[in-house]
Amino acid sequence: PWRPISTFFKASDLRVELTSEPKPKPEVGQLQFGKHFTDHMLTVEWDRERGWGQPHIKPFQHLRLHPASSALHYAVELFEGMKAFRGQDQRIRLFRPLMNMERMSRSAARASLPPFDQLQLLECIRRLVAIDQAWVPHSDSASLYIRPTYIGTEPSLGVSRPGHALLFVILSPVGAYFASGPMGAVGLLAEPRYVRAWLGGVGDCKMGGNYAPTILVQDEAVRAGCQQVLWLYGDDHQITEVGTMNIFLFWTDLQGELELVTPPLNGIILPGVTRQSLLDLARKWGEFKVSERSITMADLLRGLREKRVREVFGSGTACVVSPVSHVLYQGKNYPIPTMENGPDLTKRFLKELTDIQYGRVPSDWVLPV
Ligand code: PMP
Repeated sequence: PWRPISTFFKASDLRVELTSEPKPKPEVGQLQFGKHFTDHMLTVEWDRERGWGQPHIKPFQHLRLHPASSALHYAVELFEGMKAFRGQDQRIRLFRPLMNMERMSRSAARASLPPFDQLQLLECIRRLVAIDQAWVPHSDSASLYIRPTYIGTEPSLGVSRPGHALLFVILSPVGAYFASGPMGAVGLLAEPRYVRAWLGGVGDCKMGGNYAPTILVQDEAVRAGCQQVLWLYGDDHQITEVGTMNIFLFWTDLQGELELVTPPLNGIILPGVTRQSLLDLARKWGEFKVSERSITMADLLRGLREKRVREVFGSGTACVVSPVSHVLYQGKNYPIPTMENGPDLTKRFLKELTDIQYGRVPSDWVLPV
């Protein structure tokens, strides 16, 4: 039965229905990204007349959707990606989860989906993770991936603001993202014929519609012997992102200064939680210049020619950091000496972040479950 609560749903109104058929849990070594799901999920429905319904934690199950649902036709859809980590102390922690709630709110506003209270959603997620806590892997190379999802369920083919919506959260135990392991270097295909996002578009929102068109290009990268796509933008081939990661360069700049540089948040880049965390750490260390500014392929190639490039790496929730070993651009393969240089900075970032995530170092960046 529908019980309208208030403008926003509240965690104190959670209805919890536990499964009577818990599933066997996969071995940590057997985990494949996003293929296993826990015993429970969270759902909250919204409709224009009645507002938000009661948040509901229930056995993991299929959705029932009207075939005209706007998510299926016009990609009125968005999602988030965050993780829960189990420390040696057996405590479970979320990493900077409010940043995901903020990004989700921004995506929702852009997708014409109704607003929600970020703290209340976070508290519902915390309760869900607590209920499925046995699914958080006992390993410091694995974690529980959390996938909040928000879809328009308007049963109409009109392209308009949905009057019905569904917010749900599913959980998936995950191991290392790349088959090559946590510190395997990746090669990138930089193909200017393809564009991921553009000024005035929604590249800074985590909407499903941004991802479907990338699969073909990712397949092309694999056929070309690369692991990921390096997304370029504009006539000057600005470097924007790598696959589903933000990108960082650690080099000596043209003034001879050691610099960590990543592209700015100008609307075509997803504001990564990991990106922000690496910037925050590097600025706290204060050991080298830290810049958010545009970098072009010409800048990178000149840096490589002049042997100024030390490390190039991607950053994201899935892998934390991912070193880059080469770029295939306009038919030419450009080796990048990331691994030859340690990779000292990449490794240091990996250690600092995982120490915080797994509770080896105390930090106000984590929220205990
Ligand atoms: N860019 C894109 C396109 C992404 O999908 C992701 C993954 N969310 C990132 C960057 C990295 O963001 P985060 O550090 O928040 O995982």
